[in-house]
Amino acid sequence: MKLFNLFMQELAVDLGTANTLIMQDDKVVVDEPSIVAINKKTGEIIAVGNKAMQMHEKTHDNIDTIRPLKDGVIADFQAAESMIQGMINMIGNKRRFFTHLRMVICIPSGITEVEKRAVFDSADHVDSKETYLIHEPMAAALGIGLDVEEPIGNMVIDIGGGTTEIAVIALSGIVCDQSIRVAGDEFTEDIIDYIRREHNMLIGERTAEKIKLNVGAATKNLTNPPEPYAVNGRDLMTGIPRQIIIRYEETAEALDKSIMKIEEAVLKALEITPPELSADIYRTGLYLTGGGALLKGLDKRLSIKTKLPVLVADDPLRAVVRGTGIALKNTDRFSFLIDRKSL
Ligand code: ADP
Ligand code: MG
Repeated sequence: MKLFNLFMQELAVDLGTANTLIMQDDKVVVDEPSIVAINKKTGEIIAVGNKAMQMHEKTHDNIDTIRPLKDGVIADFQAAESMIQGMINMIGNKRRFFTHLRMVICIPSGITEVEKRAVFDSADHVDSKETYLIHEPMAAALGIGLDVEEPIGNMVIDIGGGTTEIAVIALSGIVCDQSIRVAGDEFTEDIIDYIRREHNMLIGERTAEKIKLNVGAATKNLTNPPEPYAVNGRDLMTGIPRQIIIRYEETAEALDKSIMKIEEAVLKALEITPPELSADIYRTGLYLTGGGALLKGLDKRLSIKTKLPVLVADDPLRAVVRGTGIALKNTDRFSFLIDRKSL
């Protein structure tokens, strides 16, 4: 086994709209935002991941930051490929040459055949000899620890950056799913809009993201409310920088409409679930994963709406990469993995 490992390198890649994670030998070795910075004149990649994120919204004319997977689809093929390469290079000298590289890459379920091919091509370019793709809800279910092969229905709700994916999984397949483009990015925009409207102040995406992480809430009745949060931005009237204090009740108001859309999609998914599987879901409840699962009070709100138990996955930002890692160890067994031939 040891000798075999010397010649084999295996990577599980979660290609998310907000974050890309890579797991190797059961450890997360890359966890970076899905963003690249390019030199607009030369087209050269200047930075990938965290470094590129630090430049985001602070660039001048010659630099552009791109999120290659905005909205759950590959918006920019070239940038996506550079990003995948850059992230794999971050594993650094642990990347052994002359080895057989095998990868499982998790993709948002909304991506088209052409986009899947592009992901395969990107994998070829980093010299992967064996590549499989896995749909995000399936990887999420595996990462949560569900037995996806059983004849038992489980509903997984993955709230990422670009999309919320709701899927019912049973017998190694996705029985029904709903995907909407309302997720973390939309929440961030809601907060920007709210502060512009209610406080006459302009803030950037990164500031709004911090507000969301600190005082973002899905309901005005949190049992453990966070402390109010100080926010700096530019006054719309005077143009001068100023500071305001935001309470969680305000973000709950800002996010209400978007969360209603997620609730509707969950109800719709429950409505189209075959009755035998509904019976299973009644017993097991709904599993919440992805970064959006961390929004305060969201589990409670969904539980009240559906009258079902809602469970937040352990470390929900990493459930998908964990699941992709499990798939990597079972490529010969899991029929739901996509290889190039099945395209
Ligand atoms: P993706 O799979 O699309 O890359 P992730 O599952 O990594 O997305 O989730 C990223 C999203 O989760 C981002 O929009 C981020 O702002 C959001 N997020 C992360 N932590 C929290 C938190 N504590 N509260 C609310 N949203 C969060
Ligand atoms: Mg994800």
